[in-house]
Amino acid sequence: MLNLAQGEFLSYLQSWQLAYHGDYRTAIPRLTALGDNAHDTSVRFRSNVTLVNMLEIAHRYEDAYTRMQLVLDMLPRIVDHRARSQALGVASDLYVAAGQSDLALDFANRLIAEADDPHSVCKGMSHRLDAYFKGGKQAQFISSFDGAVAACEAAKEPIYANSSRIERARIHLAAGQPRDAVELLLAHRDQALATGYGELTTEYDAVLARGYADEGNLADARRYAMDAVQEGFADQITKGLNDAWQVLYQVAKQQGDVNAALTYYEKFAVADKGYLNDVSARALAFQMVNQQVREKKAQIAALDQQNAVLKLKQQVGRQHMLVMWLGIALLGVLAGSIALYAIRTKRSQLKFQKLARRDGLTEIHNRPYFIECAEAELAYCRRSMRDASVIAIDLDHFKAINDEHGHAAGDDALKRAVAACGRHLRSVDIFGRLGGEEFGILLPDCVPERAADVAEKMRGEVEAIHGSQGGLGFPVTASFGVTAARWSGYELVQMLAHADSALYRAKREGRNRVAMQAESAARADSVPDGMADRRKAVS
Ligand code: GH3
Ligand code: MG
Ligand code: MG
Repeated sequence: MLNLAQGEFLSYLQSWQLAYHGDYRTAIPRLTALGDNAHDTSVRFRSNVTLVNMLEIAHRYEDAYTRMQLVLDMLPRIVDHRARSQALGVASDLYVAAGQSDLALDFANRLIAEADDPHSVCKGMSHRLDAYFKGGKQAQFISSFDGAVAACEAAKEPIYANSSRIERARIHLAAGQPRDAVELLLAHRDQALATGYGELTTEYDAVLARGYADEGNLADARRYAMDAVQEGFADQITKGLNDAWQVLYQVAKQQGDVNAALTYYEKFAVADKGYLNDVSARALAFQMVNQQVREKKAQIAALDQQNAVLKLKQQVGRQHMLVMWLGIALLGVLAGSIALYAIRTKRSQLKFQKLARRDGLTEIHNRPYFIECAEAELAYCRRSMRDASVIAIDLDHFKAINDEHGHAAGDDALKRAVAACGRHLRSVDIFGRLGGEEFGILLPDCVPERAADVAEKMRGEVEAIHGSQGGLGFPVTASFGVTAARWSGYELVQMLAHADSALYRAKREGRNRVAMQAESAARADSVPDGMADRRKAVS
């Protein structure tokens, strides 16, 4: 049982055999099917290579060049040396026939470089000679000729060896050396004929005939030319046949055989036209396929470019996403930082604000802030026609406390007294430290009677500090002066002055007591500008 690849290879060999026996009609479709569909890459490749050969012989050049392109596209993936060698040889042969000798030379050189058996070396060197010959590189041809022929003799490839000799002979003829051409060809004629390869032997004898004709040996020229015509198929378009008819025409003309000359000329003209047509057909086919290939390659390049652009776009997209996420992350961090900064700023602002607004020791409003808040509140009370009261407080004999118990004890007493007073205040009341041991309280929406009551409670609370747990160890009392908007108006300065007057009176009346402005205002000793005068009065 054959596996799939083996079955395909057998099918390829059968097709090849059909082609070898000239049954191109059957061979070409079979090779095409194998070349297109065989699962085995090697079978597909070799089918296509053989197909190129068949298509060329069938003069289906466009198909041949198209198929060749397929072979060349597959070539990089083919590792089988024999298959590669076959393909490179066919490529060189095909392109040189289209007048693309440089391209053919490339393939020949690749074939030589890859050659790992005598057969491939011969083939490569022969193809290279052919490319030199068709490319008009006679010097290179001549210097490579002996080596190539020796390689093909060694490889037992008489077809290649003698094809090269035909070309060498043509160069002799072109150089006006017909004797050299004749001698070369005569020396190997038996070997050439032994190949039985019609195309080769026709051309071999045609060139030999041309040599004799050039020498003026019309008899031998006619003889070999006739042999050439007989060896070739009359309807075949070959360079050899073309040459043979031309020699026969020239000989007949020189011999004065006008009728024969005319007949041979007609044959030559048809063959020459066919040959030239064939050459131009190949060239044209090559150009057409080449154009198609170029277009296809351009399309592929365009597709590649589109792919590249797409990839780039995706990449850019990804990068864009990355940048976006980075941006988002950065914004996040930034937002976080800003938030943090804002919080910190706010905190420090608040801290500074607190520092700026609060008294460091007692933590109640400092003087400026007390004035600011109290003025605002009084303005509001005035607009809303609500009453407001002010209490002024001064600790009694505080200098003596400091002196007797130390400044720290004095501070402690200050804090405790403030705390004691604060316990009797509402949240709307504004408590501020106006000086060393002097305080002011604004009580919005508060009648003086109630303010007096609050002051009295404060006084008692301060007095009670001494007897309380963890007391100061020394008594502390405070004096209170109370006024209200109804007596002093809503100007803070005026209210403070009046409260201070009342306070002054409380001091004078024995301290540790509450005095009302209404009463003090009625007294003649009331002083509008309190503190300094009172100090003088007290001290
Ligand atoms: P009076 O009862 O007449 O008010 O007598 P006084 O000693 O309280 O009067 P005076 O105004 O002459 O003295 C106030 C003293 O308060 C002077 C000062 O040493 C003290 N003092 C002012 N601020 C502070 C403070 O923040 N801490 C302490 N420990 N003492 C202060
Ligand atoms: Mg005092
Ligand atoms: Mg004082």
